[in-house]
Amino acid sequence: MKKPLFLTLLCVLSLGLFAANNKKPSERELVSQNMPKIEAPSKKYKVLCFSKPYGFRHNSIEIGKTMMEVMAEKTGLFDVTFSEDLTEFAPDKIKQYDAICLNNNTHLQKGMKDEKMRETFINYVKNGGGIFAIHSATDGGWKEYVEMIGGNFDGHPWGAGGTWGIANEDPNHPIVKDVYQGENFTIKDEIYQYKDFDRSKNRVLMTLDLSHEATGKKNGKRADKDYAVAWVKNYGEGRVFVSSLGHNKEIFYHPEILKMWAEGFRFVLGEADVDTSSVPKPAAK
Ligand SMILES: [Zn+2]
Repeated sequence: MKKPLFLTLLCVLSLGLFAANNKKPSERELVSQNMPKIEAPSKKYKVLCFSKPYGFRHNSIEIGKTMMEVMAEKTGLFDVTFSEDLTEFAPDKIKQYDAICLNNNTHLQKGMKDEKMRETFINYVKNGGGIFAIHSATDGGWKEYVEMIGGNFDGHPWGAGGTWGIANEDPNHPIVKDVYQGENFTIKDEIYQYKDFDRSKNRVLMTLDLSHEATGKKNGKRADKDYAVAWVKNYGEGRVFVSSLGHNKEIFYHPEILKMWAEGFRFVLGEADVDTSSVPKPAAK
């Protein structure tokens, strides 16, 4: 009787060790493992991460906050304050931040109804503030907000469960040059199409690659077939980075996307000076 008991114990112990060695890393561990190294920052900036949606609430909001926390810790680029409270946009509060991360906050116009607050926010950017806009931060807004962002959500023919082709349109640009070494790639995420998007006012970094079969098969609304996925721009003295990617949680610990986001943050904080002049859409290959 003793031997089988011993064997059973050994078996249980081995299984335990096996499980311990093969424990799936947590989402925070994944973000941490995949956060890229950046050039040492000249100072520590202050960032507000605003995560309150006034429309659809994305499941990825929480991991968006984790990503911000880990980026702050690992790069030393900024300290981050998290809020879902619009009082952070009051004149005496907003001025302490070098940039604001708009973390999937759908339909900001439905929350920020006060004209004075909208004006304070827009003037904050015009006067040199940074904006890092993730996914549904591009969904909604009022006239000046949409101008500042550079486009407005107009549906998503490319759904979250699909894998879509992305063209790295600006492979020498510092924000995306290291993303897949500047090559085109595929990714699983929900990709927006935009209205009120004017390429001549944005520096487009990535677009949908319509030569990718599944991607090209979907019918988007735009006559010019110009489906930007990431761009930068200046708005007054301010700096804006926009990522249409950021619906699925996996985007927030995707090593290649984190490279783009870390460099995007260096730009919006004024740490890295990058070219924001518009370039025409490359001819289809
Ligand atoms: Zn979404």
